[in-house]
Amino acid sequence: MSPPGPVHLRQVRTGNLQALLRAVLDGPASRADLATRTGLTKATVTSLVEPLLRQRILTEDPVVNTGRGRPSRPLRFAEEAPVAVGAEINVRHLGVTVQRLDGTTVAERHIDLDNRHRDADDLIDRLADLVRTTITESGVALLGIGLAVPGIVREGTVVHAPNVPGLTDVRIGDRLAAALGEPAVAVDNEANLAALAHLWPHRLAGDDFVYVSGDVGIGAGIVLGGSLFRGRGGFAGELGHVVIERGGRHCACGGQGCVEQYAGLRAILAAAGAPGLDALCRALRRGDTHSRAAVNCAGSALGTALASLINVCDVATVVLGGCYASLFDDLAPGVRAELGIGVLAAARRPVTLTVSPLGRAAVARGAAALITRRSCLEPELLLAPGPSATGDRRSTTV
Ligand SMILES: [Zn+2]
Repeated sequence: MSPPGPVHLRQVRTGNLQALLRAVLDGPASRADLATRTGLTKATVTSLVEPLLRQRILTEDPVVNTGRGRPSRPLRFAEEAPVAVGAEINVRHLGVTVQRLDGTTVAERHIDLDNRHRDADDLIDRLADLVRTTITESGVALLGIGLAVPGIVREGTVVHAPNVPGLTDVRIGDRLAAALGEPAVAVDNEANLAALAHLWPHRLAGDDFVYVSGDVGIGAGIVLGGSLFRGRGGFAGELGHVVIERGGRHCACGGQGCVEQYAGLRAILAAAGAPGLDALCRALRRGDTHSRAAVNCAGSALGTALASLINVCDVATVVLGGCYASLFDDLAPGVRAELGIGVLAAARRPVTLTVSPLGRAAVARGAAALITRRSCLEPELLLAPGPSATGDRRSTTV
């Protein structure tokens, strides 16, 4: 057998670096602990760690004397390491977050804004301003920018955005990148990215779950075996258009009886007679029976659609986010009741229904996770000197 060639050695080193970075994501650890976590030798760990320390991706804590064996110096991600920006265009707001590689938040901004009738130019101007301000505030160099949109994205183009039609057919990532003077902005659907935020950098909901994003529309990010399931053209997870009543209410998609018309935010507010989500939450806190009945009814409708989804893809956990996170206590009983009725053999394979621990920050953090995950899975990007990696860090600050 011939000895391994340079390409093979490079692949091995990349795989080892991935394993090392993932092990550091599990928490600060000494070289010896990282060797145990990864199954690599301590010598290999040391050779991998040195360039990461030189590039200030990792840092060493002061010596910790555990009382057993040699004192250790735990390694962690450095505070001055470059950061990822996650931006979000939502029907009702814009959001930006700056995240470190380990998912800690450096800065976060959010402005309420009705975007339903805004055109792409206006949205890009406002979002670029918000991104610039937030990055300046954080004062750290950039790994890259991710962007979440309330629509279906195919090869960088928004192909379907019924609730913010101004985004349709727009290469929104390219346009935002040009406005910011950045080489690229990665774009994906908001529910997919909110699901990703529960998967990376920390597994908050296991490897098989559905993240349900409640808003005017209802989207779902489906995670199977630790990977996002997008379907053939990115249309997987369009939970809002699952039909729960044949010949039922008319939907913006052209169909009838879609669950969005019964459990989407607009439908809930109309049924409750509330002018907005905050007013509805206040009424629920007061114990207003009419509002509680409206939300419970929406929960039943959502549960009916979710039971069908679970019967098809057999996930263990449903995570409710978006406006559903705020309404969870009043929504969950209706959802649970319908899951109990509609999921086949529900008694033998219970489904966990949970509220997103990330709240409304989930979508923007998922957009940042697009970048931090790519950096850890392609560690040569972290180590390569260059304007968007670690070369001249200050010059990359927008
Ligand atoms: Zn529909």
